[in-house]
Amino acid sequence: MYILDTEIKYLPGVGPKRAEALQKELNILTFGDLLYHFPFRYIDKTRIYAVREVSDALPYVLLRGKIVGFREVSAKQKRLTAMFSDGTGAIELVWFKGIAYIQKSLRVGATYTLFGRPSSFDGRLNIVHPELEDPVKVEGQLTSSIQAVYNSTERLKDMGLGTRALGRLQGALLGLALPRVEETLPPYLAAAQRLMALPEALLNIHFPQSPALLQQAQDRLKLEELFYVQLSILRTRARRVKAGSGLRFAQVGERLNHFYRHNLPFALTGAQKRVVREIRADVGSGQQMNRLLQGDVGSGKTMVALMAMLIAADNGFQSCIMAPTEILAAQHLKSMGDLLRGVNVSVALLTGSTKKAERRALLERLQSGEIHILIGTHALIEGAVQFRRLGLVVIDEQHRFGVAQRSRLWEKSETPPHILVMTATPIPRTLAMTLYGDLDVSVLDELPPGRKPIRTVHYYDSKRAHLFGFVREQVAAGRQVYVVYPLIQESEKMDYKNLQEGWEVVTREFPAPQYKVCMVHGRLKSGEKEAAMQEFVRGDAQIMVATSVIEVGVNVPNASVMVIESAERFGLAQLHQLRGRVGRGAEQSFCILMSGVQLSSYSRQRIEMMCSSSDGFELAEADLRLRGPGDLDGTVQSGTTFTLHIANLAKDGHILEHARAVAEQILQDDPLLASEQNSLLLQNLGRLRREERDYSTIS
Ligand code: ADP
Ligand code: MG
Repeated sequence: MYILDTEIKYLPGVGPKRAEALQKELNILTFGDLLYHFPFRYIDKTRIYAVREVSDALPYVLLRGKIVGFREVSAKQKRLTAMFSDGTGAIELVWFKGIAYIQKSLRVGATYTLFGRPSSFDGRLNIVHPELEDPVKVEGQLTSSIQAVYNSTERLKDMGLGTRALGRLQGALLGLALPRVEETLPPYLAAAQRLMALPEALLNIHFPQSPALLQQAQDRLKLEELFYVQLSILRTRARRVKAGSGLRFAQVGERLNHFYRHNLPFALTGAQKRVVREIRADVGSGQQMNRLLQGDVGSGKTMVALMAMLIAADNGFQSCIMAPTEILAAQHLKSMGDLLRGVNVSVALLTGSTKKAERRALLERLQSGEIHILIGTHALIEGAVQFRRLGLVVIDEQHRFGVAQRSRLWEKSETPPHILVMTATPIPRTLAMTLYGDLDVSVLDELPPGRKPIRTVHYYDSKRAHLFGFVREQVAAGRQVYVVYPLIQESEKMDYKNLQEGWEVVTREFPAPQYKVCMVHGRLKSGEKEAAMQEFVRGDAQIMVATSVIEVGVNVPNASVMVIESAERFGLAQLHQLRGRVGRGAEQSFCILMSGVQLSSYSRQRIEMMCSSSDGFELAEADLRLRGPGDLDGTVQSGTTFTLHIANLAKDGHILEHARAVAEQILQDDPLLASEQNSLLLQNLGRLRREERDYSTIS
């Protein structure tokens, strides 16, 4: 057996109990898993500070000196202190735990290397729980002056598996396994890319022997990781294209022509025309379309989808469009119904709240082929929903759907239907290359003419009176206003409390009968929600108080003000989506971000970005840069196919581009990876694929 496949419990110092914890907490099952649990940070221990230089502004310091004496402050408080001196000054050391052991093991007067985080307490500097190393003792162990820091968890720390212990395990593992670690890239490739050998890279990633070697190790491991991801994606794509078993929509027929000539209420933007052409080419090619349509809020994606569905109908196929909320599905029904007046297509709506009898009749008409276009929510996924000839699936605002949910839709047809995924969340190029690398991408990069840029400002809560004054003016001028409260989890009582209080404040400020304020949130029954929405859509209510339910899709051109409460609690993508609810009419629109005074620097940056940019792509790039791809919202979480251990999509874009180019070149020369020199690639792809779930149909 290959040594890296050995179960982790067999590593000296682990055993069954810790092995179980490592698996539960960090998903480490084997030697290999531990070895690829890379440090997330390094501490440079090459610089030794003098005690007099120490300040609490320094995150860490390394000192060398002597313990001058201990003092147990109070047995009851269980605190031990000591003075540490290097001749330039003295600093207090403090322990709250392990006091007896510390007192026994540390010797007054001996020289130690000390490492720790300075803090100040009562105006005095101290270091709590410093690491002290006897310079003599560490000899003979695998060490490095650049110390790796590992992710651990509370539970692991309680079992004595904090970052330092993990480092020791890595040292033991490297000693055991390194001579038998096999190279994972073909020699020709490693040579051409001038990459450090794998064993050397693994050693230096955990125990950097110098900053330069650490850099080389990181470069090698990142490139390899991204290379395999790209190789996998590109191969999937190549296979799909080659398979060539798609439905062919050969003609543009009566319905689309009629619609185009008589029903189109405005001229299409250049971008819309281009994307419709791209879609026509796809569906006419005889290969299955897998297209991602990215377009900022308000760029007119619905029109593109509608035209694609008309092409399907003209070719004798049914289509469906799946929206993430009932509100949005209902809105699609209405706007498409209006647009299609006089066109010979039948459109129907199916959601979770469709009544039983109605539903049964609808499913029959669907199965008989009478319904051409089915609009709906998750309800479309259910097994009972059977089409006669499903030819096109449109998924609106895709990030709201899990990948598994999506894939159930195209199982509804023997030959997989064409897929059009639409998203208003612009995905930075590097992410798109990884998440949707095998989808074709179309971009609506042009807004319909006549839109005025939305003015975005930030107010602290103290300016609320001013805010209400402004809202009053806008309402007096006949405009409508959204006031949105954050909703992190539908079940969180707190959020509803905020909403409820907000509602009270707003209705006090804007009392009936002069004003009408409606409220929409996820706890309403769908009938109630619909009624409240309609009040706003009709213009009967001037103000809508809502949770982020309205984030997606609502279209009320007369609404010109979007007030976002506790804006610091929203992500950039979400803020941008919300802002897109206004600015749809001819009037100047405003987005007002409300927040408390206490803001983290990340929140402040987000709010500043919103005020200075209205470009969704720019914001998405900034978002990725600010928080890193690790914790992007559902957009990414639901789509992520590969676990990245070391590469960072926010920072390693250039490595990614390079990795993709290398993968493309290799596949061009050897599409099946059949050559002797590429057999290793094939083998490692197999490994990679076992880690991922099967997303290959779409993303
Ligand atoms: P999104 O891309 O956010 O889904 P929508 O499809 O909802 O955008 O379109 C936003 C608004 O713009 C709608 O009111 C729609 O009718 C209008 N619209 C779409 N395309 C055009 C166009 N070419 N010219 C003018 N208005 C358009
Ligand atoms: Mg839309």
